[in-house]
Amino acid sequence: MRHAPDLDTGRWKQMRFSYEMPVKVYFGKRCLNKCRHHLCSLGSRFLLVTGRSSGRLSGALDDAVSVLNENRLEYEVFDGVVNNPTLENVAEGAITARRFHADAVLGIGGGSPLDAAKAIAVLAVNDIEPHELYTNKFETVPLPVAAIPTTSGTGSEVTPYSILTRNDIKTKKSFGCSDMFPKAAFLDPSYTYSLPYNVTVDTAADAFSHAAEGYLSKRSTCLSDIYAVECMAAFGRCLPLLLKNNIKEQQRDELMYMAMLGGMVITHTGTTIVHGLGYQLTYNRDIPHGRANAVFMEQYLRYNSKVCGEKVDNILKLTGTRTFDEFGSAFGRLGNVSIDLSPEEIDLYAEMAYQKKSTSFNPRVVEKEDLKKIIKEALGR
Ligand code: NAP
Ligand code: ZN
Repeated sequence: MRHAPDLDTGRWKQMRFSYEMPVKVYFGKRCLNKCRHHLCSLGSRFLLVTGRSSGRLSGALDDAVSVLNENRLEYEVFDGVVNNPTLENVAEGAITARRFHADAVLGIGGGSPLDAAKAIAVLAVNDIEPHELYTNKFETVPLPVAAIPTTSGTGSEVTPYSILTRNDIKTKKSFGCSDMFPKAAFLDPSYTYSLPYNVTVDTAADAFSHAAEGYLSKRSTCLSDIYAVECMAAFGRCLPLLLKNNIKEQQRDELMYMAMLGGMVITHTGTTIVHGLGYQLTYNRDIPHGRANAVFMEQYLRYNSKVCGEKVDNILKLTGTRTFDEFGSAFGRLGNVSIDLSPEEIDLYAEMAYQKKSTSFNPRVVEKEDLKKIIKEALGR
């Protein structure tokens, strides 16, 4: 058995931890404008890293450009970040950063541009191949990064992680170290008003899965649990309106708040099998990150209820559902995925997820056969 059995999720164990959260967070409408001094103090030549449309549609790119112009700071825009950015994509961004002699990076967008910004900040000042990012040891400290999220999901604005698509090993993989925490994060919920419904729902499910996986993880602590519970409670408050596609400004605030909390949770606990399995659906079937996690959520809770039933019951309560069926039906309505996997694909996805280190942090000892069963049940096979 590869993962040593450890059923102890008791509080005494949770009370051994270290805690680091060095990101200066500014939260609220117009916070970038109000707190622009912090952004401007980070450098004098900014590379603005964003996606094809997210920076412009959200209004965040225009706001950032105004702030930099008003303060006579130089900038260049790299708006070529693709969804689920690849090593090749961030290498391209790093070339732009070097050519421009950037001394700071501002990521604007969902998790894809924010993760790309972090990787570009490393590659811009280190002569390494993109795959060497995964050593997590960099001779030169990465350029300072500021983050403006335009989705409410990944929490990347408060994590040190960058998750990139690795075509060489056919999966998604994260890297990160303390130097990669953004220096400042500007969380303005109005930047998410332009989000389409499906992205709103997918990203909310991602934030929820960060909290749920962190809450049940062997690495959970009494401190990370506070964030996780608050995150899932906020999700629970939004769930009825998410289901009705009736999201108002107040829910936009809540969703951005919960996404930030979810990021703070995984900064300390990491994720476990939901993300490990979800990456396979994203890489191989192009299912958006949050929706890919949502697919496995009900089975994940059922599976782990055997070893941490009390916490799983609490998750159901926080989401306002009483049974696994009710929970599953809510998640199914949020993001239905209909995919047919061959036995070979199921075997491959289970194997890939089984190999991930994060799998060893799942509260219940995981065997590859368990993962195959979860995949089959989640996809109704
Ligand atoms: P995303 O891939 O960044 O964006 C999804 C889609 O939404 C894109 O088409 C994007 O447009 C669009 N969009 C973003 N903001 C918008 C807005 N305000 N208005 C209209 N459209 C908007 O999605 P995401 O779920 O936020 O990020 C997913 C990535 O984050 C994955 O690669 C995942 O692995 C990673 N992740 C990172 C962490 C971490 O800790 N670092 C944690 C979890 C997940 P554009 O294409 O124009 O940008
Ligand atoms: Zn995630």
